[in-house]
Amino acid sequence: MKALANYIAADWVESNGACQEVKNPATGEVLASVPLSDAALVDQAARAARAAFREWRQVPAGERIQFLFKLKAVLEESFEELARTITCECGKTLEESRGELRRAIENVEVACGIPILMQGAVSEDIARGIDELMIRQPVGVCAIIAPFNFPAMIPFWFLPYAIACGNTVVVKPSERVPLTMQRVFQLLDALGLPPGVVNLVHGGREAVDAILAHPDIRAVSFVGSSAVARHVYATAAAHGKRVQCQGGAKNPLIVLPDADPEMTLKIAADSAFGCAGQRCLAASLAITVGEAGASFTEAIAEEAARRVVGNGLEPGVQMGPVITPESRTRIRGLIQKGLDEGARLLVDGRQAPGPGNFLKPTVLADLPPEGEIARTEVFGPVLGLIHVHEVEEAIELINRGAYGNMACLFTSSGASARKLRYEAEVGNLGVNVGVAAPMAYFPFSGWKESFFGDLHAQGHHAVEFYTQTKVVVERWPRDWARKF
Ligand code: NAD
Repeated sequence: MKALANYIAADWVESNGACQEVKNPATGEVLASVPLSDAALVDQAARAARAAFREWRQVPAGERIQFLFKLKAVLEESFEELARTITCECGKTLEESRGELRRAIENVEVACGIPILMQGAVSEDIARGIDELMIRQPVGVCAIIAPFNFPAMIPFWFLPYAIACGNTVVVKPSERVPLTMQRVFQLLDALGLPPGVVNLVHGGREAVDAILAHPDIRAVSFVGSSAVARHVYATAAAHGKRVQCQGGAKNPLIVLPDADPEMTLKIAADSAFGCAGQRCLAASLAITVGEAGASFTEAIAEEAARRVVGNGLEPGVQMGPVITPESRTRIRGLIQKGLDEGARLLVDGRQAPGPGNFLKPTVLADLPPEGEIARTEVFGPVLGLIHVHEVEEAIELINRGAYGNMACLFTSSGASARKLRYEAEVGNLGVNVGVAAPMAYFPFSGWKESFFGDLHAQGHHAVEFYTQTKVVVERWPRDWARKF
């Protein structure tokens, strides 16, 4: 099978090095061969992006966004085809792929506001006869390094803002799901962007490390597991780069006795088992409070056991496979670890018919709060239950966790919701919402081990990340002007 090509300076560039198979996680079918590009290819892409930057930054913002309007149109035209590609390489259901793509397009729409969003500020007479201006200029060549679980949406948390602000980009998708970006770059190719504004380099660790060390790359946006996020953050910073790294998660839901039981159940199950639990905002723990314990436990176990698992392309399927056989083995191992630590197996999803990497939903009750299974990211369809007596205990438990990506509360009490909002050491909160994914207008605000950096993806943060401020202090005295 011919390997996918990289896209550099508007040319499809083949790699002669090592390749890796890309498999459909629902069928095991080999979909493609992806090159594991080396430092030389990263260098080629970075140079192309640097060369394009000089001209691209001079294109007025209002002209730059015309390409984004066109991009939005071609993404809409290719919507179903792209959704199918996401499902085939990543495993999620078609409905989930459509949802992801909608979120990707939303970011293109928001970035179309760049002519206003990247405006600077002026203060006249900041001192007598002196004006001060703050202007925003692009940073230069920016790299985008993405994980496997949202092959379309995550690169779009960054790419539209970066190029609209006048930067040029090198995108490195996950080597496990390269096909969606491959197709997106075919669409980008047809837009007539100047060569080198957008570049695609396939690969894994070697390509990432080359990006982090490359002197022409000024900024790095990364999303992936916390261990790699930490490495990328430290290494990019050591090379003097601007860097934002979103990491892993362990997301709790709190269920209070005054929550609407039906709504809570539906939303909690979708959060825990949607995308087979492979969302950085998937609920992984449900902390029931007081009388909510017994009823929620029974209902979520029934709901989990009912979930229809299968190939995400088939109608009626509610949950697809996990990404690789290794991932399935790791998840099974964590379930066993939980049982060894004393958890009670309410629903056992460890066995599911092949040939794909299927698991069924698993529900574990009575997790020991300090055990590994209560603290480690599972990234699979496994929900652990912990019971406490007061909402204060639940919030304390959340704040003891290492991650801070998301917490959600199910209640009809405004006071409890406000308490969580005030006290939770978590960057994205949901109240009667199970996947508190910020819309593109807001920053995706992970905290603690879920984020390394200060400016997050999306919204105003993206504009700040992809621009650097320049302040000009000016004096233009009239008398001097008359002399010349
Ligand atoms: P990953 O960390 O394995 O890979 C992410 C990227 O880093 C990939 O492009 C990969 O090629 C590269 N990479 C992998 N190992 C590397 C290494 N040792 N050195 C340099 N680069 C390396 O993550 P994944 O398995 O693809 O994605 C799942 C993880 O991403 C989960 O932990 C999930 O919580 C997290 N995630 C976080 C968010 C968020 O917004 N916080 C969103 C989506 C996914």
